[in-house]
This record gives sequence, structure tokens and C-alpha cells, in this order.
Amino acid sequence: MEKNGCIFCKIINREIDGERVYEDDNFLGILDANPRAEGHTLIIPKKHFRNLLDMPTSMGNELLEAIKKVSLKLIEEGKGEGVNVFSNNEEVAGQLVMHTHVHIIPRKKDDNLKDLI
Ligand code: AMP
Ligand code: ZN
Repeated sequence: MEKNGCIFCKIINREIDGERVYEDDNFLGILDANPRAEGHTLIIPKKHFRNLLDMPTSMGNELLEAIKKVSLKLIEEGKGEGVNVFSNNEEVAGQLVMHTHVHIIPRKKDDNLKDLI
């Protein structure tokens, strides 16, 4: 069910464009609109939850599977040799979009992205 005005729900429902790079039963991977590195991907649940703290624990395995698949593909494609995986939960922690999302940012040696979080 779409949460009114939620930008990620609109992408999921194809009301606005999003660059989809991954999909399974419950999660989508989309490219971040303001990428910190080429391939910066957001893993988002298809159902609206506010953040990870609001998402059922039972979805955890599938979320980790999505994170691993996307991360390994980015590395395979040469976008990075490793990845940062993180999530901002609540405004005080820097959460701007109030729909659960996990950032995957490809990292290369000497990429000058030391202060990501
Ligand atoms: P956060 O601070 O963790 O809530 O980050 C929200 C992220 O969503 C930021 O990195 C934004 O660049 C990204 N973002 C915001 N709007 C869109 C959009 N329409 N499509 C893709 N990414 C978006
Ligand atoms: Zn939403």
C-alpha cells in the first residue's frame, strides 16, 4: 500500500521514473538520484515501512540476499573493489526519505569518499 506522498512508493508504482537495477518478490534496487559513486544503489522494500526499525525482522534474510546480489554484481562490473552498506534511520541520523532504504556504495582505492557517513 502506497504511503501518500512517498517518493519511493511512487517509484515502486511507476508514477515517477526510477532506474531499476534489481527486483525480487519484496525488494527493488534503484540507482540513487544523487550518487556518491557510480553504481550507488538503494535497496527498498516494495511495501512502505518508515525505516529498518519499522520493517518486519522476517524480511531480513531476503534483504541481505538483495544487498549481497547487488553488491557482488557491482564488484563484478568493476564499479568497485568493495562496498559500503548503510542505512540512516530517523531524521536525527540523516534519514531524508521516510521509506526504508539501504545504501550500497561501491568503493575503490583512493576514491576520496572517506567521510560517507
Ligand atoms: P537518506 O539520507 O538515507 O534518507 O537518503 C535518501 C537518498 O535518496 C539520497 O541519497 C537521495 O539522493 C536519494 N533520493 C531521493 N529522491 C530520489 C529519487 N527520486 N530517486 C532516487 N533516489 C532518490
Ligand atoms: Zn513509501
